[in-house]
Amino acid sequence: MSDAAERLAHIRATIARAEADGGRISGAVSLVAVSKTHDGVAIRPFLQVGQRVFGENRVQEAKGKWPELRHEFPGVELHLIGPLQSNKVRDALALFDVIETIDRPKLARAVADEIQRCGRQPRCLVQVNIGREGQKAGIDPDQTTALVDLCRQQFHLPISGLMCIPPAGLDPVPFFRQLAALAKELALAEISMGMSGDYLQAIACGATSVRVGSALFGPR
Ligand SMILES: *Cc1c(COP(=O)(O)O)cnc(C)c1O
Repeated sequence: MSDAAERLAHIRATIARAEADGGRISGAVSLVAVSKTHDGVAIRPFLQVGQRVFGENRVQEAKGKWPELRHEFPGVELHLIGPLQSNKVRDALALFDVIETIDRPKLARAVADEIQRCGRQPRCLVQVNIGREGQKAGIDPDQTTALVDLCRQQFHLPISGLMCIPPAGLDPVPFFRQLAALAKELALAEISMGMSGDYLQAIACGATSVRVGSALFGPR
């Protein structure tokens, strides 16, 4: 087996065990392979062994490598997991199947308008600044309900879930629990949380997708 195949098999097996341990249905947790900073040469081995769901944090970077890879490997689902500026919305919607980083009314409106214009309908998640960190992207937890309501009622922008990145250096579990509780309150099915260092805890707290980069691709 190649390195890529081995790492992928290992992570998939670990996820499957965590699903079983948590009493979750097998396949309940989707693996988003975070390929940011890695080029086509590094990504191709994962596509060759069947991985189809990938995450990128920059629109411009993704635009440079994914059209060709998608052409080679049908069935790719690409997630935008980094901040989105309103002036990049058109490019983002042309490329991404899932936008995980809706975090303010202006952006939600721009995405809704572009969906109307281009007819593509990505799944959209709201990013929550779950640790209420000053510099961090994401909507404040206390304003999340209002933003989701605004998206649903004013913009007719369906929101399918919530995403978060807990503060670095703290136990992520309380933050994962808060995000899961918020998603439940809002009847949102998708919960995107957990990265290379904490995806097992995230699954135990109810994640439906985990975003794993360095554990698959190696250090950046
Ligand atoms: C880079 C990144 C990840 C993956 O991080 P790893 O620690 O490499 O697994 C997950 N989510 C987001 C939003 C990221 O930017």
